[in-house]
Amino acid sequence: MNTRQIMQDEDTYLSNTYARYGVAVVGGSGVRAKGSDGREYIDFTSGIGVNSLGYCDPGWVGAVSEQAARVQHTSNLFYTEPCTRAAKRVIERTGMGNVFFGNSGAEANEGAIKAARKYSHAKYGVQRSEIITLEGSFHGRTMATITATGQDAFHKDYDPFLQGFVYAGTGDIADLRSKVSDRTCAVMAEFVQGEGGVNPLGADYVKEMAAICAENDILLIADEVQSGAGRTGRFMAYEHYGVKPDIVTVAKGIGGGLPIGAIIFGEKTKDTFTPGDHGSTYGGNPVACAGADYVLSRMDEGFLEHVREVGGHIKKRLLSTPGVAGVTGLGLMIGVALENKKAPEVVKSCIDKGLFILTAKDKLRLLPPLIITKEEADEGIEILKSALAE
Ligand SMILES: *Cc1c(COP(=O)(O)O)cnc(C)c1O
Repeated sequence: MNTRQIMQDEDTYLSNTYARYGVAVVGGSGVRAKGSDGREYIDFTSGIGVNSLGYCDPGWVGAVSEQAARVQHTSNLFYTEPCTRAAKRVIERTGMGNVFFGNSGAEANEGAIKAARKYSHAKYGVQRSEIITLEGSFHGRTMATITATGQDAFHKDYDPFLQGFVYAGTGDIADLRSKVSDRTCAVMAEFVQGEGGVNPLGADYVKEMAAICAENDILLIADEVQSGAGRTGRFMAYEHYGVKPDIVTVAKGIGGGLPIGAIIFGEKTKDTFTPGDHGSTYGGNPVACAGADYVLSRMDEGFLEHVREVGGHIKKRLLSTPGVAGVTGLGLMIGVALENKKAPEVVKSCIDKGLFILTAKDKLRLLPPLIITKEEADEGIEILKSALAE
């Protein structure tokens, strides 16, 4: 099928939820994607932070295809080895208590919200059910997670929303304090807001937020769906801040390309769920878990050092690029504010020139594969430079 045919069929047969770019991706290797027209593109998107080892990493392909040929699925009524291997790695890396595997970021956040409410209800009664989230946050597309998302743009057309969500101004500790009450059961935050514009929370703010939570037995939930699994140059973004959340959610990059999400429970919450409280038919799928196990096996300290180093290199290059007003983010999660161009137009021009790149609010956003080299990054930056120079 040629690109035109694929695009025509898409308009006919798929729900109209995305305005796609005019490229059909048919292959890829490392940081390069291949279009159905035979063109090659440098990919600064990783499929929105998912392909953390790039396209078709041979070790990853081996792990998932061997598992697919052995057992593709068996439900949570039975044990499987890949699921327990991946869980062991997650717990050894984080020092948390235990983990629940689901299939996406939104689903992980749903489960975290459920666990937080159960924890507080059991200890303090059902009136203690409020979750505080931050303005500009993004937590997913399900009813609970769009309610949790602190952006009005996601709050049209779908009411009534869930009860028990309260929003606090990001970075405003006085506002957070004023929203805390004896009804508060959790604070949920992205330590680096992704969709909201690649904005890391301030160090003092996070310390105070964690202290308020600890003093009041309010659970701190870190939504690391985008920032986790090595993206920021630490295994989890919260490690940059020296705090320990009570629940951590991850998805996107941890699977290396297959759908997987995880709720990681700390000391306080590891025994909150008991059999029957939560579940998922696909959750812990052995093929997805074999992929995650492989991704995690690659993420040693040297790997994270590489992420920090190439991230620093890209930031420095961007800061001296004409048309760039500022650069934000941590590791290979990078936001670029533009002087006078509109981000969506720059993205289109970059794709025409052979570079995939994302937006976040009015910024450009870079989430390249974590294995990208400085030379490959420079190739992409040259394309971006020429798009900004038009
Ligand atoms: C992408 C994202 C989600 C939603 O994840 P899905 O897998 O699309 O459901 C939730 N939180 C954050 C911070 C995200 O970036």
